[in-house]
Formats: sequence, structure tokens, C-alpha cells
Amino acid sequence: MCAKPKVILKNIQKTFRDPRRKTETVALRDINVNVVDGEFLCLLGPSGCGKSTILNLIAGFDEPSEGEILLDDRPVGKPSPDRGMIFQTAELFPWLSVAENIAFGLRMTGVSPTTYGPEVSRYLELMGLEGFEKHYPYELSGGMRQRVALARVWITNPTLFLMDEPFGALDAQTRLLMQELLVRIWIDARRTSLFVTHDVDESIFLGDRILLMSARPGMVRESIDIPFQRPRIYQDLIFDKDFNDIKNHVLNVLREESLHLINRHAESA
Ligand code: ADP
Ligand code: MG
Repeated sequence: MCAKPKVILKNIQKTFRDPRRKTETVALRDINVNVVDGEFLCLLGPSGCGKSTILNLIAGFDEPSEGEILLDDRPVGKPSPDRGMIFQTAELFPWLSVAENIAFGLRMTGVSPTTYGPEVSRYLELMGLEGFEKHYPYELSGGMRQRVALARVWITNPTLFLMDEPFGALDAQTRLLMQELLVRIWIDARRTSLFVTHDVDESIFLGDRILLMSARPGMVRESIDIPFQRPRIYQDLIFDKDFNDIKNHVLNVLREESLHLINRHAESA
């Protein structure tokens, strides 16, 4: 893998101030991360440790209180389609069909139907949505809606793909299928991806690397390289000694972080 950084987070701090209640929440402190071009990086950490905040800052939805975020050596500006974002609940247009939802981004940028038509068909096939192109979002299962959401962002060819617990609301079976699908399209295009999850298995199955975060204020506690070749077979991995060693290590760290949080709350109560 090329070692060129795609995204650089330099000394990032984020404090949320609530002037009415006169409270301050330090959400992120001393975040220094280089995301390598083409890398699949998972952000893993206890609830409230600032994972979504990091994605929101990179997406340009919000600004850091201190520090700098560079994308391809340039400061990130306001939100733009070059950073495709996927949320936990698939945000689809209910009045558009599956095919129209997938085509939406390309249509908005002035691409003609003769050009985007074949691309939409390719994504319908890649996502196992053939036969559903004329269906509307309310007619789809949660997994199918999330597949449309993935296709809709992926088709616009963003330079960076930001995913905030995209499979968090899906049942275990669907989640596994979605993980395999995601890996398939990621291998196809090798676009730099940041994937937030609190599921340890998911992060080891998907990631080239995991950033393990500490409880609030969120800091990067560890960076763990995932050594498994691709394509990875989930059913084989779960019996692999290295997989289980990494998993146990990560679970222990997460447990420690959760205990810190509980103790801190107990002290301040
Ligand atoms: P995670 O995604 O890891 O669960 P978040 O990034 O959502 O965590 O939140 C980190 C911390 O920042 C939490 O304490 C949360 O309450 C706080 N926070 C996040 N967004 C806001 C906001 N817009 N205003 C005030 N506090 C916020
Ligand atoms: Mg979150």
C-alpha cells in the first residue's frame, strides 16, 4: 500500500460549549492521525468518545476548536460530495425509486442519463438490488435501504468514504452480508474509507487498521494493524488464533475504558 497520507488530523481538539447551561464538553483531545491513501480505517471506542465528531469534522459539518484537518494536503472546507457520508439510518428520498435514489448525485452534477444509466445498473447488480429498481424506500427492508444508501454515495466516486455505524441498526445476519458487500465494492475501487463502529468483530473483519479510542475526552489510545489477507472469510477468521488474540486485547482495552468512565461518573456524583 502506498504510504501517502490522504487525510491528516493535526492536534485536533473539539470542545462543545453550551452557553445557556454554562457547560463545556471536551469531546476530542490531541488527535493526531494520518489516514493512508486507499486505507480502510476503523474507529472503535466506547459510546461518547468522539467517533462521530471526528467524521463530522472531516466531512466539514463542524470545525475543530483547535488543530487542522488536511485532505490531499489542503485544509478541508465545507461539506462537499468529494467526501461521501453514510449514517446509521439510510437517508433516502422517499419519493424517489431505488434507481432514482442511486442516480440522484450523478443527475445533480449534470451527468446525462445515457452516461449514468449503465453505472446505476452496475450498482444495482453489485448490491443485489436487481428487480427492485422501481421500488420505493418504504417497500424495502433495512438492509436493502442501506444498500441503496451505499450505492448512492459510492456511485458519485467520492475521494473519501465516511461511514458512521452504517450497519448498527441491522440484524446480525444482514450485517454480515452487508460487511461482505462493502468489502467487495471497496476492493473494486480501493477508496480511502473511515468506518465508525463499536462492534469489535466488524472492525477486525473490515479494517486494514483499527484506531482504538479512549473514553471522553476522546484520544487515540492505540493503532492496531490487522494482518489478515483479503478476501477474508468470516467463518474462518473467527477460529483463527490471531483474530481471537486481537479481539481479546481490544475487548480488554474497551472494558478498561468503560470502567474509567463509570469510576469518573461515580467520583463526580
Ligand atoms: P460517539 O460517536 O463516539 O458516540 P460523539 O462524537 O457523538 O461520540 O460525541 C462525543 C461527545 O461530544 C459526547 O459527550 C457528546 O455528548 C458530545 N457532543 C457531540 N456532539 C455535540 C453537539 N453538537 N453539542 C454538544 N455536545 C456534543
Ligand atoms: Mg456516534
